[in-house]
Amino acid sequence: MLSQFNQFLLNFSLLITSLLFAFLPMRNISRISPNSSIRIRLAVGLIASIIGALLVLNSISYDGAKIDLRLVALVTAYYYGGWISGGLTTIAIIGARFLVTPPGVYQGLILATLICLALLVTASIYRRFAAQTFKDYLILLGIGIGYSLPALYLLTDTFMRFLEMAFVYIIFNLLGGYVTFRFLRELRKHFQFVQTQQELALTDSLTNLANRRKLDETLADYDKHGYAFSVLIVDIDFFKSVNDEYGHDGGDVVLRQLSHLLATFAPEQALVARYGGEEFVVVLPDIAHREAERIGERIRTACADQHFVFKPYPPFHVTLSMGVASSDQGKTAFEVVQLADQALYQAKQTGRNKVVGYAYS
Ligand code: GH3
Ligand code: MG
Ligand code: MG
Repeated sequence: MLSQFNQFLLNFSLLITSLLFAFLPMRNISRISPNSSIRIRLAVGLIASIIGALLVLNSISYDGAKIDLRLVALVTAYYYGGWISGGLTTIAIIGARFLVTPPGVYQGLILATLICLALLVTASIYRRFAAQTFKDYLILLGIGIGYSLPALYLLTDTFMRFLEMAFVYIIFNLLGGYVTFRFLRELRKHFQFVQTQQELALTDSLTNLANRRKLDETLADYDKHGYAFSVLIVDIDFFKSVNDEYGHDGGDVVLRQLSHLLATFAPEQALVARYGGEEFVVVLPDIAHREAERIGERIRTACADQHFVFKPYPPFHVTLSMGVASSDQGKTAFEVVQLADQALYQAKQTGRNKVVGYAYS
């Protein structure tokens, strides 16, 4: 029995290692279920097929039976991808079982095929009504074990050998199933956490706009690919006096309400970022200088017309100054932002509440 346990452990390691490799390309897909796109379900089926086939190719021969953790690969495929993934894995497992069948000894192959087909029908039907819980996973596994035991009985020489093997088979499939289920859940949780942290690292916490880091990354990307763009630098006029009058909390409310306005009035493909303090940058891909000035003007008037609300004070107005510059051959994106900053300085110097374009000579 010890050598069977040992071989099962090898089968088990193969399962977990291949699951880890298979999971990596799918780590950013948020939730995989039988309602996912057909492409994803086929991918799940393909991965489970490879794992299932590998498990069968490394199965333990026991009298006429070949024992391994193929059931876990199969059940995992049904659980995540429904009948499409399960069906694909069924074909792969029957194919692999055929390859390891010695010529003339077809009883095991026939029984394995019957089990897989019975599972294809039952698991596909059950999966339609099941939820995504461990109980449902366990029931699918239980059905598979239930189908396999009579075949194991037929293929082993004596009843004692059957009992011995059935014991090992049940324990290892339950253990393999449990570990696989938990392993995939933990991996998903871990990658979701990483994804959330990555998003937070690029977001300004007060306004939920892109932060300076995201802006720098985007501009570097524009430089790398030589994309054409225009940029607006937006600065609130006399923001210090907003803080003086309404307190820092009142100032924060203005920053949030203005962020909402910028996101609403900027074109869909624009990146709106908080540059720092009360300054914002709007990157306008593929938009020429004149059009960028028009967009800036629309934002400026919308802001001047907006009633900012900070209770219990009466609604009040805030104005914006803006500098506009556009990409030009031979200038880095960072230099374009500096030119927009010079134009903003002009706007401040010449009365505020206005949009000034950088004059290219
Ligand atoms: P100007 O028209 O020349 O731009 O004048 P200004 O008062 O808007 O500019 P200044 O640079 O003198 O002041 C900006 C103020 O913005 C100072 C700072 O206290 C305030 N500020 C920066 N970040 C925040 C923030 O996150 N929240 C709040 N409430 N205030 C901030
Ligand atoms: Mg200001
Ligand atoms: Mg400023």
